[in-house]
Amino acid sequence: MAASALPEPDFKLAAQLFDMLAQKTHDTVGITRASYGEGEQFAHDLIAQTGRAAGLATTTDAGGNLYVTLKGHDQEKGIFLIASHLDSVPQGGNFDGAAGVIAGIAILTAWKRTGFVPAGDVAVLAIRAEESTWFPYSYVGSKAALGLLPKFALEIPRADTGRTLAQHMTELGFDPAAVRRGEALFRPNQLRGYVELHIEQGPVLTGRDIPLALVTGIRGSFRYRNARVLGEYGHSGAVPREYRHDAVVAAADFVTRLNSEWERLEHEGHDLTVTIGKLFTDPTQHAFSKIAGEVSICIDVRSHSKPTLAVVKTLVNALAAEIAKKYGAKFELGPLTGSEPAEMDRDLLDRFTSSAANLKIPHIQMASGAGHDAAVYASAGVPAAMIFVRNQNGSHNPDEAMRLEDFELAVRVLAHGVAGLS
Ligand SMILES: [Zn+2]
Repeated sequence: MAASALPEPDFKLAAQLFDMLAQKTHDTVGITRASYGEGEQFAHDLIAQTGRAAGLATTTDAGGNLYVTLKGHDQEKGIFLIASHLDSVPQGGNFDGAAGVIAGIAILTAWKRTGFVPAGDVAVLAIRAEESTWFPYSYVGSKAALGLLPKFALEIPRADTGRTLAQHMTELGFDPAAVRRGEALFRPNQLRGYVELHIEQGPVLTGRDIPLALVTGIRGSFRYRNARVLGEYGHSGAVPREYRHDAVVAAADFVTRLNSEWERLEHEGHDLTVTIGKLFTDPTQHAFSKIAGEVSICIDVRSHSKPTLAVVKTLVNALAAEIAKKYGAKFELGPLTGSEPAEMDRDLLDRFTSSAANLKIPHIQMASGAGHDAAVYASAGVPAAMIFVRNQNGSHNPDEAMRLEDFELAVRVLAHGVAGLS
């Protein structure tokens, strides 16, 4: 589709919506839109009213997720979702989540007003409860939307009120019993695709001076939260080196070797982060003049590629065994936890990348280190994509800042890509 033939998204409306959200959900320090709470509900009402005023159809599902839909030429094609969440962390920023919903509204209201009809139905989906600070469970809203929320999640109390998710849903007029039965307005096979515009939550785009990125995948992880290196305590002056089983030296060797392997894999083109977030001796036993007999460490490894995670897991275990042998120490890696990575859809990634190229907007491709609802849709078999917008000062804090000119570039790429779907 020629960019000139496409109606300009309503950026004036977008700016007004950002302002209204900021005014009404400001908590004196930052922005608070609690999941199934007052701020989130205000945001949902605002988006629904804006959609209705523009002549778009609005529907809410059993879990309270909102769909604002523009009908396409062929309703048999399935719905394409422009989605994001409207809740925030306590004292967070105005753009995390809301930017993706407002992007969709800016596009669909302009298309409706100018009579632009897409090939198939396009809906803005405003998702509930993405931030797991309120209900300590990931992706409540998007899982409920797909009928995939496990029953136990409905009994989880909200961190601040102590009332359960089911109670909060009922209070707002939604239907937790239907959520419990796994009912969904749309099953994955009724969805053509999913795209989420979101602020980048790391420093990459700001650092490289690029306004936007197309996301290749959402990183999954494996973690050994409670690993231990066990050596032997001994006198610092009395035990010669060849008799030592020094847990600090073994742990340090392990960390530097693992870091070198990360560097090597990165050079080979793997998407990977490796973090030893904690490393400490036992304060009840360690001493200035003592060889350390025990070191606790935690290992957090992330990648958007399942094979890469498998390679690194094997490597961590092999390194632990090798280093244990070298120092006559013992590695106890402990319980393994983690999450599955989600690959973004190749065709959609190519589509939005070409849109950015056609519009001559500077862009890169990158993986997302943070989790997003897009992962739920991708795992359910819906082709999913994400667009990141440059954002200053990080996110999940009141100083989060996104320049509207960057947002506009990203929304143009989004509109261009969705309009081109045949
Ligand atoms: Zn978010």
